[in-house]
Amino acid sequence: MRLPAKLLPLLTISCFLACDQHYPVAGGTELPGAPKQTEDILKQTFPDAMTGPAFADSAINYVQRKYHIPPGKILMGASLCVDDIIYTKNFRLNPKVKGPFNLGGLGGLPFTGVSGLGAFAHHIPEEGVMFLLIAPHIGYSESKGWGYVLRHEQHEASTCCGALMGTLDKLKKGTLRPEIKEEDYQGGKIAQLALAHQQEILSAKDQIIALTKITAKQAEQEIRSHIVDTHMGHIKYVVLVAGIMINTDYSYSDYLSVNHFMVYDVAKKAIVEDVANPFRADR
Ligand SMILES: [Zn+2]
Repeated sequence: MRLPAKLLPLLTISCFLACDQHYPVAGGTELPGAPKQTEDILKQTFPDAMTGPAFADSAINYVQRKYHIPPGKILMGASLCVDDIIYTKNFRLNPKVKGPFNLGGLGGLPFTGVSGLGAFAHHIPEEGVMFLLIAPHIGYSESKGWGYVLRHEQHEASTCCGALMGTLDKLKKGTLRPEIKEEDYQGGKIAQLALAHQQEILSAKDQIIALTKITAKQAEQEIRSHIVDTHMGHIKYVVLVAGIMINTDYSYSDYLSVNHFMVYDVAKKAIVEDVANPFRADR
């Protein structure tokens, strides 16, 4: 099999929340990181990018050490794109994995909104932790560069994120419309976001990177604003990790670039930690 573990990094991201042991996890083999030349390119744009397994290992060590959070008390919520490259196998390989509760839609924006976050909150163990991973994604293909990825059993790299690349294509052609239609609600919302930032996007050195960063910022802002409207009396902490996921060609591990890490103490009604990226020292 060529791709039983393509999405293992995301499995381990969720697995660390439920498993006592670190990766590699049962049912899969950890994929190698991308070749150095590719990794260097990724880190030119996303200096903090780390492989999914490296992120998972750092994150579990960090929250366990600093907040004494047992993995069994954590339920993961994910605002990630609907792209199958993210979900197909990752969250099904290990029966111990809890979650994720999928909060995201096209582009990784949290389209389930306040209702989705409220439903997710109800599922969290008593005295438990709401762990939110907010990470719109971008592909990097060795043959086509940013905005593409080579998927399993295909010979040519295809767009990634497809929704954002499609939006960018229309923006460049001047055919992107801000109307929200029932049959393409999520596409319409992404179009509105892109149009609101069109000057920034079109003047960027790499337009898809610019649109991805704007989408990631928007997703984080939406989740943060939804948190204050969510009832979570039985929860101890909200842990938020916001960043960008970088998908690489199918035989390599995916990467995560963390922009912000935030911990909200529900009882104190206070943010007790809000930093750019605390995991660097753990790598
Ligand atoms: Zn996508």
